[in-house]
Amino acid sequence: MFGALRRWRQQRILRTQAIPEGLWRDSLEALPFLAMYTDAELQRLREKVVLFLNAKSIIGARGHRVTPRQRVVIALQACVLVLNLDLMYYDGWENVIVYPDEFVPGWEWEDEAGVVHTHEEPLAGEAMERGPVILSWADVEASQDWESTGMNLAIHEFAHKLEMRNGVANGCPPLPPEMAPHVWKRVMVAAYDHFQRRVAKGERTAIDPYAAESPAEFFAVLSEVFFAEPRLLRHEYLAVYQQFARFYRQEPAARVEMLRDA
Ligand SMILES: [Zn+2]
Repeated sequence: MFGALRRWRQQRILRTQAIPEGLWRDSLEALPFLAMYTDAELQRLREKVVLFLNAKSIIGARGHRVTPRQRVVIALQACVLVLNLDLMYYDGWENVIVYPDEFVPGWEWEDEAGVVHTHEEPLAGEAMERGPVILSWADVEASQDWESTGMNLAIHEFAHKLEMRNGVANGCPPLPPEMAPHVWKRVMVAAYDHFQRRVAKGERTAIDPYAAESPAEFFAVLSEVFFAEPRLLRHEYLAVYQQFARFYRQEPAARVEMLRDA
């Protein structure tokens, strides 16, 4: 019964809140890595984007006006992660807050002596457990072009939302029943330790060294690479690539190769 009701609601949202063709085309053009998807997949992605935008509020902060295209571009990057997963992976929080540029998060923490400090370093993005995703539009826009920046801020922050679903930011999203958690853990710990050693030695890694910060950052940064430059991840950390391919239910490296060969 609930399933039927949910489908009926979704159909109504898809009918009444469809994205106009021109806006959809413009938004796709902003994200060159989406070229790997077939027309049928892009249609499915479009439906997910409509449902995502219905479920979440995308709110401008500090005077930033979020345009319809910005809404779709942000939602596209959130939904590409769950193209073959249930959108319920993003349940439990409501807002995406968009600043025009970097922002100072204003969190406070208490040190061992009981002194309260305020975080004053500006950030480009942040994902809060059970809270909003916060993005700097300037950085979302710059990192749409992987070739020039080697990063994708929006994918990074939405990947954190997936790995935080277990309640803590530990780099491990809830795995589907067919995946073995001990295998995931073994693969990720081995790759993380290896990457940390490379960064500690001062190696200039093709993968952003920020991934060595914590297991959560390792998952978020490697998720960016998985979607935007999948052959790099497959080449550097094959076992991680294979775990990601099973978790995300996508094979982006093979897709990119098919595209190049066509
Ligand atoms: Zn992060």
